[in-house]
Amino acid sequence: MIQLSDIEKVLNRVIHPEYDKSIIELSLVQNLNYQKDESEDDAGTIKFRLVFHRNDPMANSLKEACQKALQEAFPKAKTSILVLIDSNKATGHNKNELGRGDLDKKELNTVQNIIAVASGKGGVGKSTVAVNLAIALSQLGYKVGLLDADVYGPSVPKMTATEDYLPPITEKEGKQLIVPVEKYGVKWMSIGYFAKPEQALIWRGPMACGALKQLAFEVMWGELDYLLIDLPPGTGDIHITMIQEIPLTGAIIVTTPQQIALADVEKGINMFRNKDVHTPIYGIVENMSWFTPKELPNNRYYLFGKNGGEKMADKYNVPLLGQIPIVMGVMEGGDNGRPAALEEGEIQSRFREIAENL
Ligand code: ADP
Repeated sequence: MIQLSDIEKVLNRVIHPEYDKSIIELSLVQNLNYQKDESEDDAGTIKFRLVFHRNDPMANSLKEACQKALQEAFPKAKTSILVLIDSNKATGHNKNELGRGDLDKKELNTVQNIIAVASGKGGVGKSTVAVNLAIALSQLGYKVGLLDADVYGPSVPKMTATEDYLPPITEKEGKQLIVPVEKYGVKWMSIGYFAKPEQALIWRGPMACGALKQLAFEVMWGELDYLLIDLPPGTGDIHITMIQEIPLTGAIIVTTPQQIALADVEKGINMFRNKDVHTPIYGIVENMSWFTPKELPNNRYYLFGKNGGEKMADKYNVPLLGQIPIVMGVMEGGDNGRPAALEEGEIQSRFREIAENL
């Protein structure tokens, strides 16, 4: 019959890459229990909780690693692992182990340009622009990656139909790295592969920051011409901390032509021009510029006002990189995991123009 001590021995080989210690040593395994099956001794169920002190980006991968290790050791047994986040309760590892110390930024050395895609406000189409722009850059022949760091609403998994991707860990020069998923010619990494949307609600500033840094520095990006970083909307302290830590080359700002969105753009511009951040702004992308119904292809309806992006670009002396109209195909492309820039047509050429301007 399977003993609890045997199970612990197996789990002791599952290492948390961030701390370089086993999940047993870190006391992440709780309520370990084995229910033996009536019929056969070794065919019972191994049950336990993996309890993290924060929304740990490694949680899913560690769960997978446990399942795999247990299945190899006890092929007849079933496993049932519940992942929990308990931010109030210490899980055994002391402060020093939790402190990440100086991060190794080496993985970004092979990335030529790191560009933040930001917006003052949610819902202006920042992620839609980031994803389509990444595809457009790769269509121009560049090597491109996109890091979806929008902790409050990661959209890359859905927009690229990669929701089921469980990022594997690989070792490079003694360092554990997360492998991005490659699709449509782009390397994608998203906070959404590690945390379910409903968990995002409990994320607080420092956690979000830590997770973003881990994703930026510990992903096997390889050689890239462009790494786009889809930032969470907003311009608060958390954004400043995030962008200070990442060696950004520049930023682009996405807005709609609407007055209120434009007021937020101003905050976005000021954030990147803040003396502690000092990141050049490559330009503004105006999204949802007008609506053209399919049956009236020559008509433009300026639902959110006209040329707001251009006025803002003039005022702040930054280029307007391009305009994207409201088109059903853009929304549908996002919803069904095949971004509109992949299909030949007006949207593809507009994103290509933005990519060229960038
Ligand atoms: P944000 O990242 O700024 O919160 P999203 O990229 O998630 O915004 O876009 C919000 C919604 O608007 C999504 O449903 C998206 O498909 C839709 N959308 C964005 N841009 C366009 C566009 N140009 N035409 C039609 N729908 C769009």
